[in-house]
Amino acid sequence: MKRGISAGPRSFRSSHAFLIRSVDAGETDRRISFLTESDGLVTMVAKAARRSRKRFGGTLQKYFLLDVSWTESPGRMAVLDSTALVESFWEIAADWEKVRHADYLLELTATLFPQPGPKPRAFGILLWGIRSLALGVSPAAVGRKTEAVLLSVGGWGPDLGACRRCGRHTEALRKGSGGTVRFFPDEGGFLCGTCSSKGGIPLSLGAVKTWKAIQASSPPLLGRVRISDGILEELQQVMPQYVELYLGRTLRSLGGPPSF
Ligand SMILES: [Zn+2]
Repeated sequence: MKRGISAGPRSFRSSHAFLIRSVDAGETDRRISFLTESDGLVTMVAKAARRSRKRFGGTLQKYFLLDVSWTESPGRMAVLDSTALVESFWEIAADWEKVRHADYLLELTATLFPQPGPKPRAFGILLWGIRSLALGVSPAAVGRKTEAVLLSVGGWGPDLGACRRCGRHTEALRKGSGGTVRFFPDEGGFLCGTCSSKGGIPLSLGAVKTWKAIQASSPPLLGRVRISDGILEELQQVMPQYVELYLGRTLRSLGGPPSF
């Protein structure tokens, strides 16, 4: 059997997906990165998508849960075959705070999990976050919960189980010892009030316990973890900073005024 050089084995794939980025490619096409549940981050060519908005039925937007089908051929960029809308979270587009947080969650997930391969847990958490934003849950609370669980799923901590020096368990720490611990982002953990009274970022025991509870949760239970306004404000000061330190850079969508 004769085969042309380009006629390698093709594979046809399909998965739930979120659109992460879309840029023009040539005069008629677009190049689109999707975060897919089955294959992680996949960049593909959407042929004629630039020439005709109707080509993919108007579905090539962020904040849509899509079912995408594509073809992979060795040595070539994947080609998008079709898309179908599964669930719309378009309510997000009407509110700048929601947009900012949704863009952040999309970018964060794609940045934390760039490797090919199935991503069912990370995808499920992202979906929970996007859906919660669309439903009107506090963007800051959704942001912190999603961040904490994504980091935990990826194995990036931080380890909030015990003081890094004396090893006393978080649950055994009492408010008597100052009620405040010192969180050291670059060490991925904290020192209790007895072990240290300076350096790092001060965090209340309540904030540490809440962060730890979020780490151990997953959708849909994640929605039930209560974060008081005070603790949310504390976590707001430390968690995005921890993420940036871990990633070694600022995510574009984190720019802009703080949401608190
Ligand atoms: Zn200690």
